[in-house]
Amino acid sequence: MRLPLTMYLVIFVSASVVFYQYHLSKAWMISHNNSQFRDLSAGPIEKGTNYTYYASKNISQAVPCTDFSLSNPQLPPLYIITPTYRRPEQLAELTRLAHTLMLTPNIHWLVIEDAEQKTELVTDLLQRTGLSYDHLLAPMPEIYKKKKKGPKPRGVSNRNKGLAWIRKYAKDGVFYFADDDNTYDLQLFREIRYTKQVSMFPVGLITKLGVSSPIVRNGKFMGFYDGWMAGRKFPVDMAGFAVSVNFLLERPKAEMPFKPGFEEDGFLKSLVPFEPYEIELLAENCTKIWVWHTQAKRNDPSQPLDFAKYNNTNLVLLKHILV
Ligand code: UDP
Ligand code: MN
Repeated sequence: MRLPLTMYLVIFVSASVVFYQYHLSKAWMISHNNSQFRDLSAGPIEKGTNYTYYASKNISQAVPCTDFSLSNPQLPPLYIITPTYRRPEQLAELTRLAHTLMLTPNIHWLVIEDAEQKTELVTDLLQRTGLSYDHLLAPMPEIYKKKKKGPKPRGVSNRNKGLAWIRKYAKDGVFYFADDDNTYDLQLFREIRYTKQVSMFPVGLITKLGVSSPIVRNGKFMGFYDGWMAGRKFPVDMAGFAVSVNFLLERPKAEMPFKPGFEEDGFLKSLVPFEPYEIELLAENCTKIWVWHTQAKRNDPSQPLDFAKYNNTNLVLLKHILV
């Protein structure tokens, strides 16, 4: 008699535990069903999908994001113009930037290579992101490439190609020059999207001053703070401003000059009529840093592989990825 009673007790307690756990997990599912979580390991993003699903119960794997619907028609489109070129760090930089943009709704990424041919590995990377993008080419003109002395106009031909694309295909929204090596806070994209004409904001890690920014007093624009003024009308960094597409379309001559150090100034001046007092100040009146001018350590090209010795190994394939 005593043994079966213990058995009944064990069965009852186990059943209660299982039942309780089932209810707990169901409650979790219901409370999270409508939240905007997305497991980034869930594979490529498909256009037009609303990310209200999650693939993992493990909350530490889910990425919360308040505006995570990639094709939200209410949001103005944001065009991201990214110059890039083949070097040891290229795929690493683009991977990082891609992952930032994958968390940003309603963007179109213009990835423009300073190269004669598209880098296949870049094409692969772009495809795998599931982002809306165009992969374009804009090699630096030979006259600048051959230059032995002094700085070169880096990324200028790429950005002008981006501007030409915008003029041809974009109708509204905002564009932003996002170099492949900077670090972007998602808040930046939330704010610049609503630029009416030209918006500006601080960029961290610029010159010895540590930041380049409009100066704001009592909510009013007072001038520019930048470690290299050089007589520029707009002494700002490339990452420090965004422009409305319509504002550009109304200025058919606007473009970026091949003038090292004066690319930003030249482009912003070409947006005439436009004066510094008209700047829209973002990042909470320029009190926050939503973009950082990070620079990767330069890596030497990888040393040659002994193909005879490592024939038929993974190293041969890896070597094709490297510069
Ligand atoms: N870039 C390019 N071709 C070059 C050098 C640079 O397309 O020959 C791109 C680069 O990938 C980056 C942007 O232009 O997106 C600015 O270059 P870099 O980051 O080297 O300039 P810095 O930030 O040091 O001014
Ligand atoms: Mn850079």
